[in-house]
Amino acid sequence: MTALVGRTPLVRLRRVVRGAPAAVLVKVEAANPAGSSKDRAALSMVRAAEASGALAPGGVIFEGSSGNTGIALAMIGAALGYRVVVVVPDRSSQEKLALLRAYGAEVVVTPALLPAEHPDQVRALAARLAAETPGGWYAGQYDNPANVDAHYSTTGPEIWAQTEGRVTHLVAGIGTGGTLTGAGRYLREVSGDRVQVVGADPESSVFGGGSGRPHLVEATGRFVHPQTRADVWPRSFDPAVTTGMRRVPDRAAIMTTRALAREEGLLVGASGGLAVAAAVALAHTLGPDDVVVAVAPDSGRSYLSKYFDDEWVSQRGFGPDGGPAPAVAPASETIAHTTTVEQARVALGQGHALPVVLRQADQGEPVAVAQIIGSVSLDGLRAAAPEELVADHLGPALPLAGAHEPVSAVRERLAQAHDAVVVTHDGLVVAVLPVSELDSRAEVIGDLVP
Ligand code: PMP
Repeated sequence: MTALVGRTPLVRLRRVVRGAPAAVLVKVEAANPAGSSKDRAALSMVRAAEASGALAPGGVIFEGSSGNTGIALAMIGAALGYRVVVVVPDRSSQEKLALLRAYGAEVVVTPALLPAEHPDQVRALAARLAAETPGGWYAGQYDNPANVDAHYSTTGPEIWAQTEGRVTHLVAGIGTGGTLTGAGRYLREVSGDRVQVVGADPESSVFGGGSGRPHLVEATGRFVHPQTRADVWPRSFDPAVTTGMRRVPDRAAIMTTRALAREEGLLVGASGGLAVAAAVALAHTLGPDDVVVAVAPDSGRSYLSKYFDDEWVSQRGFGPDGGPAPAVAPASETIAHTTTVEQARVALGQGHALPVVLRQADQGEPVAVAQIIGSVSLDGLRAAAPEELVADHLGPALPLAGAHEPVSAVRERLAQAHDAVVVTHDGLVVAVLPVSELDSRAEVIGDLVP
């Protein structure tokens, strides 16, 4: 299987470019054997560890990853005969865990919402387990130079060869930064610094100067946990390689992801849609001799129940048109997961269920749907001690309803059990409405928001 890694196709976009003068090509990394660009990084890291002696026959591969890197290492480990242990956050989808187990990897589940310094945080736990296991080796893609090397020695040269040296711009999202840094460095070097290297970043990601609030596009961009003391960027990302950044709202990334499937027959994940959205915007500023290459790291198959699901999209407030700017969620309707039971009792007052929100330090900002981790009600807290954390008494997340959605459609969709609904617009929380108020004669949900 390792022989199948890399040499992925480059596809020219015809319709999604919307008449841009420059060409936009997509590097389709889903063509790798385990389905993503991470196959390159995983193979490179394992080969480097074998060469240095850090990983020897009979050794055990450890990594902390909710997605593609774990799956890639599981595939490589199976192909090369190593045990693989992947630490995953507890919010990972069942499909991802099933895929890891299908390749024979062992899965260790740990809470998703821990600050970087916590010993059970995904990556910290993986590193610790590796250190405690005889023959254990921690891959550590965020800081492992072999991740960057993979893209310097394969992705970059492939793009150069496939465009016959005509590439002028590389656009990619930044997770570890390995793709952009490695391929970007190669392309700058080989072109005599002619190729521009552009990071495509979710609007709220700190890489591009955002607030660090969570975003909906998986596996790319960087959000900062409110309790993280020092936000240390991955060593795999070298900002000096980039010549520019383009910040992309979740809406544009998701809509472009969907358009790629429908208008080009290209089923890619939202980090690919993010890169293409940035690449198309860039292409509109360029000329007919320019060639923009956007990297699509994985397949849309992993996200059918998210970005490609009409209800999922609509419930997060992404309507067919932009609509008016969202209002800021009233602070009393969301509470941070670090709130104590006593503080929550005071804040809740009324007694209907409210969503608990993982809220960033900057409270002046609207709260994003991606920040919601569940709900809490006074009933649910009754037996809890006042000094306990609300996060330890979470109820299920409340149903979501886009402000643009018809009231009748939302009412039909809601199960009897719900007391309240979270109103969203453009990926942000607008308000929390008691379900009883959905009975009014308003047409769309947004009309019911005070
Ligand atoms: N998109 C997806 C789907 C990914 O799995 C990754 C890798 N985690 C990225 C984007 C970002 O790539 P990189 O880590 O090389 O920056």
